[in-house]
Amino acid sequence: MKLIHNFKSPNFNKRKHNKIELIIVHYTALENINESLRYLCDIKNKVSCHYLISQKGQIYNLVSEKNRAWHAGISYWNLENDINSNSIGIELDYSPNYQNNIFSKKLVSSLIALLKNLKKKYNISNYNILAHSDVSPYRKIDPGSKFPWNTLYKYDLAFSPEKVSKNKIKSIRNWFKKRDISSKKNITLFMLAYIGYDTSLSNQKNFYYNCLLKNYQNHYLQNLKNSKNLHKTYDLIEKHFCILVLTNLKK
Ligand SMILES: [Zn+2]
Repeated sequence: MKLIHNFKSPNFNKRKHNKIELIIVHYTALENINESLRYLCDIKNKVSCHYLISQKGQIYNLVSEKNRAWHAGISYWNLENDINSNSIGIELDYSPNYQNNIFSKKLVSSLIALLKNLKKKYNISNYNILAHSDVSPYRKIDPGSKFPWNTLYKYDLAFSPEKVSKNKIKSIRNWFKKRDISSKKNITLFMLAYIGYDTSLSNQKNFYYNCLLKNYQNHYLQNLKNSKNLHKTYDLIEKHFCILVLTNLKK
């Protein structure tokens, strides 16, 4: 894997934690790679990332992994608010609104090489390779519904809620019943919070609840035909939760 070191961003500071636990994937929403390099390296913009990957598959290292790049902004995952401190940020030269509106083969294969490398180096579980929209679900939608999570999954670089036996699901349902947690929304939010999501705003307003569900679908249910029919979404969240509870995947 070849890295390009000709461009560096001044937008970073010291990490507040030493442990790198997450990888956050973004898209730039800018017109092309030159524009992204200019933007991410401009001190005025106060944003950056560790890696930027072009449509041609070139990987630019803009901030040293040792430092805290400024890519996640206000964000939350699994009781942690300072996602910039415990993550590596990867930006992809992609925008739904310009000509770079596909995740090109070269871009994706470079991303795979980079993820493999980082996963091994920091011992990061697939469960912790996340979208920006997972850690900032009320502000962000990147890398969006077209991002090839399925391809990453084939390379063992993504988590997918798998099959869980009916009995296990039944026992989880009974657990909620016994505690009198009966509304679908309350159960779903409880599960999403356990998975790691920030559910604070969803508790207050349905608009935010729908944002959260949409971003969950964009990551884990990309083939869903009718996103308004929440049946499949609820089922998958339940499986997702069960897997985490049963396998103790979370530390
Ligand atoms: Zn982003």
